[in-house]
Amino acid sequence: MHWQLTDKARKRLQGETGTVVKDWGGRLSVALVFPNSYYVGMSNLGFQTIYGALNRRPEIVCERAFLPDPEDLPVHERSGVPVLSLESQRPLREFDCVAFSATYENDYLHMLQILALSKIPVRPRERAEGDPLVSMGGVCAWSNPEPLAAFMDWFFLGEGEESGPEVFGLWREVREAERDPIAARAAFFRALVRIEGVYVPHLYEVRYQEDGTVADVVARDGAPLPVRKRRLARPDDHDTISVIRTEDTEFGPMGLVEVGKGCGRGCRFCMEGEIYRPVRHRHLPAILRAADAALEQGRRIGLVGACVSDYPWIDELIAGLRAKGADISLSSVRADSLSPGLVRGLLDSGTQTLTIAPEAGTERLRTVIHKSLNDARLFEAVDLIAASGVPRVKLYFMIGQPTETAEDIEGIIHVAKTVRHRILKARRDPSSLAELTVGVSSFVPKPWTAFQWCAMADVKSLEGKIRQLTRELRKVGIHVTHDVPKWARLQGILARGNRHVGELLLLALDHKGDWRRAFREWPRNPDFYVCRERPLGERFPWDHFEVGTKRERLEIEYQRAMGLLPERTIAWKAALA
Ligand code: SF4
Repeated sequence: MHWQLTDKARKRLQGETGTVVKDWGGRLSVALVFPNSYYVGMSNLGFQTIYGALNRRPEIVCERAFLPDPEDLPVHERSGVPVLSLESQRPLREFDCVAFSATYENDYLHMLQILALSKIPVRPRERAEGDPLVSMGGVCAWSNPEPLAAFMDWFFLGEGEESGPEVFGLWREVREAERDPIAARAAFFRALVRIEGVYVPHLYEVRYQEDGTVADVVARDGAPLPVRKRRLARPDDHDTISVIRTEDTEFGPMGLVEVGKGCGRGCRFCMEGEIYRPVRHRHLPAILRAADAALEQGRRIGLVGACVSDYPWIDELIAGLRAKGADISLSSVRADSLSPGLVRGLLDSGTQTLTIAPEAGTERLRTVIHKSLNDARLFEAVDLIAASGVPRVKLYFMIGQPTETAEDIEGIIHVAKTVRHRILKARRDPSSLAELTVGVSSFVPKPWTAFQWCAMADVKSLEGKIRQLTRELRKVGIHVTHDVPKWARLQGILARGNRHVGELLLLALDHKGDWRRAFREWPRNPDFYVCRERPLGERFPWDHFEVGTKRERLEIEYQRAMGLLPERTIAWKAALA
């Protein structure tokens, strides 16, 4: 059966351009693992960027690995074939280092499954000298790595373009200098804690209060406290673009180019908007230079960033890329930063769908979540899109947000119906009615946000709201897509978890992904993590990290949202007053 797996890997490689294949001789080998499918992993620009950055170092060879596809999993389990890297089809256990890149909390179990399938003990203390060192990077690692603290040798906190090559380069140097493997590991960890943006969990003791909240964190052996994330001071020096093209991604053969890091809008539910601070826009010539490299592999370019349409020189960028013959796509656009030039550029590039995220159905709730978008601006943007002829519009909303009432859910229905009406009016074409989609997801109170003190809505109420929206919008021909609230709740537990949540992950691993059984046997109350409004003074499991956003500011934002402090005047309200 093994041949089936290697044959599939070879076919995937044949469908790619830009793959890096290096000889292993004398190099440090790193298996860069995305804990989800090839399709999802190859759609991730961060994963691709680190692959490129590591392989640019001559002393490192980096190969990719993924969670086995569902149809291949029984093959691995039955025949004991370990997870293999894509490039050379070697077992992960043969690599010097295994580095996970995680952007979604519900992939945590996949990481343990990949280690177990690869016959690499999941806990560092059970690994032998010859086993690889295991680390993790990606946005989950620096928002709250604690649920995985028992399984990783270290975490990369922050942007890894510089710290990835630096850390693996260090391990190679130390190993060259110190032949005794135990002494080499000790020397490596001593040096590792001096690198900014690295967290070595076994050097920190977390003490808990009787009620399960964190009492204190103590660092040993010179480990820093707080642990600071790494951030690129000069993003222009690093082209963050997709290295490999393949049809087998969400974006097809499109090349992804990052326009900048961070977003200054301050939506109170948004973790990315906080942990990527400060906002760093790349300069126009740097993006156009990166686009030249991307265009060598195909003419379609996807612009990526927390809020691409906010890029200060967006019209010039679109014009510059169009002049180079590029077709352009954007993941989503802010309704209040949409310009005719941008819409025209996207339409001329063949864009089929524009997504706008009002997030909430009423202006009241939008004020609470600090989404400074009123209905007038929203409908203006919809008119602009409808008149341009972009064939599909998607509206995105979140349900279960703090202070939400039945009126806010009715508001979503009202907004969606009004948008449908305006599209119809602009196009005078009944067939365009089918082109409006409403996406709904459940609010998860994430670390490092103003809403980190809030409780999550219960699964039943979220399911009821989804049913209501689907029923009401279906009547007028609007298609609704939505997440699954029970998985959102799991995401909340994993995102907000402390080290005790690692026990839950181990139970889920033992029970082959049966979460119901894992929760039954876990001697802790999951509601403690997600269904509890926190007092302002509570210490969070992630409070010993420093990611560039201040807790004091978040506290003020939270109190403003809850009406405990006066709200600031939001620009659009001031304009209307
Ligand atoms: S939701 Fe979008 S606009 Fe708001 S802070 Fe996050 S990235 Fe920025």
